[in-house]
Amino acid sequence: MIKCEEVLKRLNEYIDKELDETVTKEIMEHLKLCKYCCRHHDFEVQLKELIKKSCFDKKAPEILKNKISEMLGE
Ligand SMILES: [Zn+2]
Repeated sequence: MIKCEEVLKRLNEYIDKELDETVTKEIMEHLKLCKYCCRHHDFEVQLKELIKKSCFDKKAPEILKNKISEMLGE
């Protein structure tokens, strides 16, 4: 089974559907079983949506930054 480290590293490509079928499946399976990675995945998806909607290009506004720290619990 694929490692969390590996999943997180490829999360962006996974969301953008840039990975091959085998890897995509592995990550999909992992996300079903692993709450930790699942949380990161949901967060990345939400973040991407927010960025798309708001057309924030390079600088993340304070709100987003706060949200990130909140969700990652740091
Ligand atoms: Zn994991």
